[in-house]
Amino acid sequence: MTAKIIDGTSIAENIRAEVASDVKKRMDAGLMVPGLATVMVGDNPASQAYVRSKRKACAEVGIHSVGLELPATMPQSEVEAQVKNLNDDPTIHGILVQLPLPSGFDEEKILSAVDLRKDVDGFHPVNIGRLAQKGRDPLFTPATPTGVMYLLNQQFSSLEGLNAVVLGRSNIVGMPTMLLLIRANATVTLCHSHSKDLPSICRQADILVAAIGRTEMVKKDWIKPGAVVIDVGINRVEDPSKPRGYRLVGDVAFNEVKEIAGAISPVPGGVGPMTIAMLLKNTLKAAILAGL
Ligand code: NDP
Repeated sequence: MTAKIIDGTSIAENIRAEVASDVKKRMDAGLMVPGLATVMVGDNPASQAYVRSKRKACAEVGIHSVGLELPATMPQSEVEAQVKNLNDDPTIHGILVQLPLPSGFDEEKILSAVDLRKDVDGFHPVNIGRLAQKGRDPLFTPATPTGVMYLLNQQFSSLEGLNAVVLGRSNIVGMPTMLLLIRANATVTLCHSHSKDLPSICRQADILVAAIGRTEMVKKDWIKPGAVVIDVGINRVEDPSKPRGYRLVGDVAFNEVKEIAGAISPVPGGVGPMTIAMLLKNTLKAAILAGL
């Protein structure tokens, strides 16, 4: 059996086209252009590249974006004050604080400073807390896990009762993915670096989400035949044949796992494009919620 390849690039393109069309409809109706502010503290090159690609994607769908670049030497209180200014700016509907923050900053306090209604990254402690609680709904859910769920919902009519295994428990990917899967009534096992015998846990999975940042760690014999495998990992592997001297690979050994899985998302071209598409959707939602 050869797995169906889940084409995140084309799924994300369709979502971006829908967002662009909805933004245009808003403008035709005389409503405000949705606005996203990105807040970057320090000059981490990877974070700068992520912020650039998010702002470029905004421009492509007609979302207005502004980028705050704050020095790593700025006091915590001033960063919080800058975020609060954005809360008061009516042209900004969504605020994204690019993580990780440089060491020394209190991430929770800065994320808490974001107005809940502008928390398009879904990392405000109240939004995450609501995600974890029965009967409460977050206004926004984090982009990468939401993108993972979008891909899964295309593969199954319902996730109810399916065995899902999530590898990784980070605040950004693994933990919120687990919470979203629980809300979808899957039976979820969350694994991390202290988990024992990952291969046998993974072999129980109808759904396997890998988010560990370990090059091609998940092998063919970890996979239940027909399982849906979502690979969130992005790892660099040296490759002199590439112009940049490296290529990107996931946490899953794609070439062997595709021989046994029912469906698999590739790296690149799987979850990555979905992350940005979900951020655009959330920004549009924030503008709609603002009623502006
Ligand atoms: P973190 O480093 O924050 O978390 C990694 C998680 O994996 C931790 O929970 C860690 O366990 C666990 N882990 C690490 N090694 C092992 C191991 N050998 N066995 C079992 N568990 C292990 O990473 P992120 O969650 O931020 O990112 C994960 C991957 O996803 C990275 O490759 C990242 O680049 C990628 N990513 C991709 C995105 C996209 O848009 N496609 C967006 C964000 C991230 P413990 O908690 O015990 O340390």
